[in-house]
Amino acid sequence: MSQESHLTPIADGLFAWLPDEPGAWGLANCGLLVSGGQAALIDTPYDLPHTHALLDACARVLGPEARIGTAITTHSNGDHSYGLAALTDVEIIGTEDYLHALEHEPTPQQMHHLVHETPQDQPTAWYLRRHFGRFHFEDLTLVAPTRTFSGQLDLRVGAAEVRLTQAGPAHTDGDLWVHLPQHGVVFTGDLAFAGDHPVHWAGPLDNVIDACLSILATGATVIVPGHGPLMTRDDLRAHIDYLGWVRDQARKLHAQGVPAANAALHLIESGHYPELGLPERLAITLSTEYRHLEGETETPNLVALVDAAARIALGRENARVPGPRTSTEGSRLTPPAQA
Ligand SMILES: [Zn+2]
Repeated sequence: MSQESHLTPIADGLFAWLPDEPGAWGLANCGLLVSGGQAALIDTPYDLPHTHALLDACARVLGPEARIGTAITTHSNGDHSYGLAALTDVEIIGTEDYLHALEHEPTPQQMHHLVHETPQDQPTAWYLRRHFGRFHFEDLTLVAPTRTFSGQLDLRVGAAEVRLTQAGPAHTDGDLWVHLPQHGVVFTGDLAFAGDHPVHWAGPLDNVIDACLSILATGATVIVPGHGPLMTRDDLRAHIDYLGWVRDQARKLHAQGVPAANAALHLIESGHYPELGLPERLAITLSTEYRHLEGETETPNLVALVDAAARIALGRENARVPGPRTSTEGSRLTPPAQA
């Protein structure tokens, strides 16, 4: 059985879908809460095949008596929300700001075009195909929450208490995290990542750090990050230290006039956190932090942000394979044959 086809029990009536694959984008963690014949999903996968695999696993856990009546969506990134299109007759809960964030999110059709229909001779196209080529976006429709809130929302699923807390702008403009106080568990969405460098689109990082500190303050002992394996409280503390390091480095390098992409390369070459995958994401997170340091309020161009990361990834890839190297600064970039 593959890691993507089963739910891991993490507490009584609580399961995590953990498609952990280090160094990969798009394989988000999800959750299933079951109590008293009722059930709630926390996030959905990126496309219909992955979502149907999750729903099949849920059906095996639920049996004929319980049905999923609620879906909580932690934020609007497609890898946590596109699968909502597979649900019928389900209340979908997100933050009020989620609706605003959704306006800036690529549609599935745009993702399909970027990933599957764009010539592969540019770094961004190569990078997107490499990381998102396994997903099927062409048959998806974008689904918005049917119930929204700001601040905090307390729910009950059967006898289980569920506390939703808005945190944002942080990873995106519309994040929430999910606390299950009776279970001692928090689903963080992409406010926390395990195994890879995080990527943050909205920021500032202080908001992400504040959210992680609030999650710690719940006393939860099992933390389900947006991606990667389950975290302990110490793992989350270490992650907060990491975020503080990136924030402090961003401030220092910005003050020195170092462009964000160069700052990312500098941090990668400094050798800190060698155990984390996808270091090129630092280009995106640093760019986000720089925008706040510069007082910019415009919504960034997501493709341009990914392009900076793609150029770093391609430069590192070319440095690893034999043969002539290509510059990450030039326009004649040659993607490796195996993307
Ligand atoms: Zn994600």
